[in-house]
Amino acid sequence: MRFDDRVAVVTGGSRGIGRAVCLELAGQGASVVLCYAGNEQAANDTAEACRALGARVSAVKCDVADAQQVRDMMRAVVKEYGRIDVLVNNAGVTRDGFLLMMRESDYDAVLDTNLKGTFLCIKNVVHAMMKQNYGRIVNVSSVTGLRGNAGQANYAASKAGVIGLTKAAAKELAMKNITVNAVAPGFIETDMTAAMTDAAKAATLAMIPAGRLGQAQEVARAVAFLASDDAAYITGQVLAIDGGMAM
Ligand code: NAP
Repeated sequence: MRFDDRVAVVTGGSRGIGRAVCLELAGQGASVVLCYAGNEQAANDTAEACRALGARVSAVKCDVADAQQVRDMMRAVVKEYGRIDVLVNNAGVTRDGFLLMMRESDYDAVLDTNLKGTFLCIKNVVHAMMKQNYGRIVNVSSVTGLRGNAGQANYAASKAGVIGLTKAAAKELAMKNITVNAVAPGFIETDMTAAMTDAAKAATLAMIPAGRLGQAQEVARAVAFLASDDAAYITGQVLAIDGGMAM
């Protein structure tokens, strides 16, 4: 798998799984534009690490839930890099809580970033990809989108929504040589899961047949495969990367 002359946009590329995806694609020759919500230090660190691998890279502060910011970012990428070959919709947040306690604002915040953000990014790259007659879109869902999870109604709804969006977009765009797939990570060691209580971590670990947490790089490699030419005939699929958790 090589991505020479390919341009990839990775949302939420500053940390965790997104950072690992940026490094994987950069290491295989892609130019990478990563966006982040506010952690400029982490974004610059990731950009620097990609540069050290020989890649051309930009870090852009862009809230994926904001239509104008997404439009501006994608236009700027096309202007500066000439094309967008790969879009990885990875930016995501959690605002966990049981249904009875969940605030409407927490529901909206999670849906806005995880689901609407994915929609807005797809909508704003499709024109460039259609003109090229080439595109690879990989959306980051979750096992929670497949199975649900108590205390994560907002997150589960957003990630199940990402799967529906993936399949609809795959059907619409297949004739234009644009594939749209999703990955559904299980329990991956990042800042997001570091915030879980020890009890919640132990309960989750007990549900993983592989008996261990996943690493961000293990997700990144699967994302890179789905973003590569080797996956040209794969579209509308959801690949669980979860040590067997969602079986
Ligand atoms: P993370 O370590 O918390 O990183 C989240 C990333 O998303 C950061 O780069 C953050 O930017 C960015 N982000 C958040 N809100 C954004 C917004 N509105 N606009 C643009 N960027 C935004 O998360 P992670 O664990 O790597 O998770 C990455 C993706 O995988 C998420 O979609 C998550 O739901 C999914 N996932 C994770 C796991 C897991 O076990 N970790 C499992 C299943 C699915 P800043 O650095 O600027 O804050």
